Amino acid sequence: MATDTKKLLNAKQIEEAEAFIRAQPRICRGPLREQERKAVAQLLDEGRLEEAKAMDETGRNHPETGANTCGADFNNIVVAGPWDGRQHPYKCPRCGVVGKYTAPTFAAPQPTNEGDPV
Ligand SMILES: [Zn+2]
Repeated sequence: MATDTKKLLNAKQIEEAEAFIRAQPRICRGPLREQERKAVAQLLDEGRLEEAKAMDETGRNHPETGANTCGADFNNIVVAGPWDGRQHPYKCPRCGVVGKYTAPTFAAPQPTNEGDPV
């Protein structure tokens, strides 16, 4: 059983950990259309990474909305925890995209003797 390190931190440490998570922007890119999903999988199978990346971007450009991202802040899910270093399923609350992510872990600073009188 992995430990949820969020439970080991005090309020200030949780605040710092949250800032650390949010320092890396994670915006939901929205659903990949079925046609492009198949094409991307095929390109990846063939090791054509650059073309797969370009196809992935094309497949997320949704003319009906004029957007190529969903725009939801995925960091809200990461921050909500747990912070146990394990893989978790997620579902975007805005567009419904599902996937998996690996949760971060944070170590609480160990007490030291620093500053103690000798
Ligand atoms: Zn989304």
